[in-house]
Amino acid sequence: MTEPGHTEAHLAPGGGDDGRVGVYVHLPWCERVCPYCDFAVLAARPLDPGVEDRYVEDLRTELAARAPAFGDRPLASLYLGGGTPALFRPESIARLVDAVTATFPADASAPEITLELNPSTVERERLPAFRAAGVNRLSIGIQSFDDGLLKRLGRAHRAVVAEETLAAARRAGFDDLSVDLIFAGPDQSAADLDRDLDRVIAFGPEHVSTYELTFESETPFGRAVSAGRMTPPDEELAAGMIEQVEARLEGAGYRRYEVSSYARPGRRARHNARYWQRQAVLGLGMGAHSTEVRTPARPHGARRANPRDLSAWQAALARDPAEAGEEEGLEVAVARGEAIFLGLRQIEGVAAQAFAEEFGAPPRAFFAEEIDRLVRVEWLVEGEGGDLRLSRAGRLLADSVGAEFVFVEGG
Ligand code: SF4
Repeated sequence: MTEPGHTEAHLAPGGGDDGRVGVYVHLPWCERVCPYCDFAVLAARPLDPGVEDRYVEDLRTELAARAPAFGDRPLASLYLGGGTPALFRPESIARLVDAVTATFPADASAPEITLELNPSTVERERLPAFRAAGVNRLSIGIQSFDDGLLKRLGRAHRAVVAEETLAAARRAGFDDLSVDLIFAGPDQSAADLDRDLDRVIAFGPEHVSTYELTFESETPFGRAVSAGRMTPPDEELAAGMIEQVEARLEGAGYRRYEVSSYARPGRRARHNARYWQRQAVLGLGMGAHSTEVRTPARPHGARRANPRDLSAWQAALARDPAEAGEEEGLEVAVARGEAIFLGLRQIEGVAAQAFAEEFGAPPRAFFAEEIDRLVRVEWLVEGEGGDLRLSRAGRLLADSVGAEFVFVEGG
């Protein structure tokens, strides 16, 4: 059954402010840090209850101080991400959910409340209590059902625990599950990926997020590649895998609605869509990012980034809990580029009319040269009214195509 909060009716077509707020809460601890991870994370096994309690209190302090900047907007979504948020005790999660839902009013649509979870025994046992705390959606970091690949990725879990966690989530009453799947991993073949897709499709989550493994320079994997100790999969194999994922998941009834995201009807990730559509998001916790509300003085909004270091964030909070992050107003040229970059990530693309409502003219008025060049190489499709979307070939290069718009000097 689709809960009222899970319809797509509230997704803005892009451009306009939907008048609501999403809240992101960063809970940074993981059992161990994966060698390809470049998120703001800390290793903890187990998480010390005193450290946990202090962090929850700090989050509540930051929420109280920052909420007035978002007025009395109804809560569209709450996303508890990390890290591994499910390492937090259910009573801590309940305190956070209660604080956020008490701060912002509800409207006709129940907020989407997502918790990120990794397959593990501890987290699995906590599932019924997380559901009772008000969490109505789980994003589960399965990554693969292949024990060899999980090991090569440095993941803490194995396939059997992943299967048990998925089954336990259903038993605990979660009817909105998202599964993360990684591809182009070390020594992964197309046949290996096919087996992973078989398992995902057989389980039938409502949503699947797929990620090509990246080798960021500041991670152990990135350093191993630089030192020649590791070779990333060849580009052709990785591109083939993107198409393989799409063919298999779309064949099983999922719709690819964003370059990395697939959903069953009515099950798009509402919180994630807020970023692609540049909607207001209040980010809380170490390393969290916010998208500030647009105002007449700041018509394109602003970004705010909290310190990535725990003690630096706590020290900033102690100085002024409303100003722990660093804010950067968005110049019109930057905002135009972001609107295209983020809009193109969505399969529906950029609606020229919505773009013109915010920027005074459709994309072609600012980006004719880029559009012509990308249409010529068949990476971009321009509709009659000036709408833009990625072609099938363009989707394989989504970030590079989007970057063409972001870095236009003087816009
Ligand atoms: S579990 Fe996720 S957040 Fe934690 S270290 Fe691994 S990749 Fe990073």
